Formats: sequence, structure tokens, C-alpha cells
Amino acid sequence: DYKDGGYHPVHVGETFNKRYRVLKKLGFGAFSTVWFCHDMAHNKFVAIKIQKSGESYYSAAEDEIEILDVIADKIQTEEWKESIQEYDLPNNINSAQCLHMMDNFTFEGPHGKHIGMVFEVMGYNLLKVMKLYDWEGIPLPIARKIARQTLIGLDYLHRLCNVIHTDIKPENAILSPTEKQLTDHLDSVPEHFKSSIKGPIQSSMFFSKEQNKINKRKKKKNKKKASTKKNEENKEDDEKILDEDVQVKLCDFGNGCWIDHHFTSTIQTRQYRSPEVILGGEYDETCDLWSYACMVFELITGDYLFDPKTGEDYGKEEDHIAFIIELIGHPDLKWLKECKRYRKYFTTRGKMKRIFKHKIWKLEQVFKEKYCFKDEEAEQLADFLMQALQWKNEDRCSAQEMLKHPWLSMPSDYDYQIERSDEEEDKNSGDDEEEDDNDSWATY
Ligand code: ADP
Ligand code: MG
Repeated sequence: DYKDGGYHPVHVGETFNKRYRVLKKLGFGAFSTVWFCHDMAHNKFVAIKIQKSGESYYSAAEDEIEILDVIADKIQTEEWKESIQEYDLPNNINSAQCLHMMDNFTFEGPHGKHIGMVFEVMGYNLLKVMKLYDWEGIPLPIARKIARQTLIGLDYLHRLCNVIHTDIKPENAILSPTEKQLTDHLDSVPEHFKSSIKGPIQSSMFFSKEQNKINKRKKKKNKKKASTKKNEENKEDDEKILDEDVQVKLCDFGNGCWIDHHFTSTIQTRQYRSPEVILGGEYDETCDLWSYACMVFELITGDYLFDPKTGEDYGKEEDHIAFIIELIGHPDLKWLKECKRYRKYFTTRGKMKRIFKHKIWKLEQVFKEKYCFKDEEAEQLADFLMQALQWKNEDRCSAQEMLKHPWLSMPSDYDYQIERSDEEEDKNSGDDEEEDDNDSWATY
């Protein structure tokens, strides 16, 4: 992809916009590479996303910047200030749980014109966090916090910015970095590239003034805690990233659009794609909440909520729709007929053409039977997610409404790690075929 219209061949040590010295690669996505840089003008560390240069990438980056500008602006509105109070968020520019762009610039590279976007340095994305837990699910107390914060980000995007993210998934939500991650970045930078850094390197160089104040307060609080809980000190750093201070932000607005101005009808990553998008219906901002519910399910269980596959005589889309029917029942016929592509998969009576048998398995039962959740946790969590898992846009709750759900504030002493006991395993494996089918969901 390092060719005409592709990635810019970034070199460690080079300087962007006469100001940002590249120190290390941080990550990459389908459209960009992300670099750890030293902002020589302010003697701070930043992350810079360099978009591929092709015409469509360039104009997509321009749209992304327009969205990021609105994200930066609306923080100051009275309406959001009220929400900051209501949600009990720290009162600073970073408090909308969306990654904040600090600067942007354009430059010519050997493969064409690129756009660079400057952000605060962040840590792991949620996909990496799930990996840390061996894909078995993140402990509930942490998942609950992440679920709440990402939902606040969506409320901000939808209600204040009029933006639909359209690509909510674990890769596009990132955690604040730990100190160890930050020092690791610095340690891996060759000495001679550090020449532009003024004075001793301090962790405050990674953050804005406001964020530094908050970090200081947190540190004080943590010190107090540590002195009461000695054994905490032995915790591995990877575990520490998921301590109470965890902050998570939505990122990657590269596929974002406006609620009243969409750029394309093909949106969302497969497993997180909402039914109206699969069927060619009209989508609105609630399509993000569908993806959000899929993501929260995955964070907690380690499994995709929907993972459609191509069958012998049916395609992925059909498999996906069948999965949805098994979880939430059949769509209403009037709604179905409003979707452009419904005839591809359904008869005019609303029956699927090639997949006939559906084994209904409601979300609450899935949590109880497959993941062995306690009754109350299963009921509350299913009730929370079902607010978004509805066929029709108008039947879904808004992010603001979902934030009121009691699951988000269930007491922490109720939390426990999801465990499937050996006893339960034995029971399942000894059971007949029907039970085995439960695991794969699809029983047609
Ligand atoms: P793309 O549009 O190419 O998918 P993203 O904005 O999703 O670009 O960035 C790609 C990856 O780079 C992300 O999944 C994340 O892991 C990493 N990343 C993005 N922004 C930052 C940041 N500010 N700090 C650290 N890592 C980042
Ligand atoms: Mg991405």
C-alpha cells in the first residue's frame, strides 16, 4: 500500500509541518498509519494520523476533519455543559469521550497529497484489551464502565454534533494510556532522534493542561488507596490499565456522516451492521446503537453477537438476517417492505426464501444458558441491550435514553467474573444434539 494514492512512507526522524518530529509507529487502519511524534513547538508528545493520499482518501479525510472540528466545538455549548454535570464528567475539553483533534495539516509526499491529523496519544484499542483477556470477555465492572463511557461518546456525537459514526466496533474505541505504555514508547526511540526534546522528559508532556490537572488529582487518590491495599502493587501493568481510572474514547471518524446528510448507503463493519443497512432500508443515528449493542455483548462474552457465514445455498447477508430473527423475532411486514433489498431474502409474506427453520433464543436466555449469568444480571443486561437491538429505527432508544438504564449503575458488589464452571461444561458436553446446537446459534 506504500504506492501512488497509498500510505505516505513515513520515516522516523522526519518532521511534519516544520513542527512534529516522528518518533515511532503507533498503529494503522485501512486508511491510515498513526505515529508517535514530538511537537517541537509546544514540547509535547502527540499522535498523528496520516491518511493515504488517493483522491477518495483525501476527500474522506477532509470530511473527517469537518466532523472533528464540530466535535471540538460543541464541547463548549451550554447544552453539553449540563450533560457534563448530569453524567458527572471532568469538566475539560476531553470530556465528551471522543478523541479530540488538536491540529491538522496537508503535505506533498512521493505518492501524492496527504492530510495529517494531530491527536492526544492514546493506549490500547478495545480489540487489544479483549485479547489481553484471551477473548473470554472483560470483567463486568470494567465492561460496564467502558459501556457507559462509549455511550456518552455516542450521545455527544448524535445529540450535540448531529454526527453518525457508522463504524462502531472495538478497534474504534481506545483507552487512555498507562504511564508504562508512555515510557515504553520513549524507551524504544533511538537516542539521536530525541535531540529536539527540551529538558527532562515528563509524563505531563503527553497531556493537555486540563488533563494534567485531572491526572494529578487521580494520582493523589490512588496513592491513598495503595497504602490501604498493599497487594495491589503486585498487579501486572496490563491489569492496571483496566483499573478504575480507565478512560475510553471513540475514535476514527473517517467513516462518519451527518444525521441529515449521508455519504453512502454501505456502512458499518459486517458483524456490527444493522438490519436496515443489510436490507437496504433508511438508516439514522440509531444504527450506531445497534453496533454498540453488538460491541458491548462482545466485550462481555468475548464472542461476536452475530458472526454470519456463507452457507451452501445462502449468502452471508441471509445468514446474518436469520441470526437476527433467532435473537429478536421476525420483522414486521410493513417495515420489511420499505427496505429496498427485502425481496432478495424474503417472500412477499415475510418468510425467508432459503432459510426456513429458526430456533428462537432470546438474549436473556443466552446470557443465562450459554454464559451462566446470574438471573438479575442476565435480565438487566439483556433489557439494556434490547433497547438498541430492534428492527425499526424508531423502536430503538436514543443514547441519552439508554444512559438512564439501571444496568449501567448496578452496584459493584454485584459484579463477578463470567465463569463457566467445569460442572456446567460437563453438563453441556454430555447433552444431546439440540444442546450442542445452542452453541452455534444457527440451527437451520
Ligand atoms: P483508520 O481510519 O485507518 O481505521 P484509526 O483512526 O482507526 O484509522 O486509527 C488506526 C488505529 O491506530 C486505531 O485502531 C488505534 O489502535 C490507533 N490509534 C489511532 N489514534 C490513536 C491515538 N491518538 N493514539 C494511539 N493510537 C491511536
Ligand atoms: Mg479504524
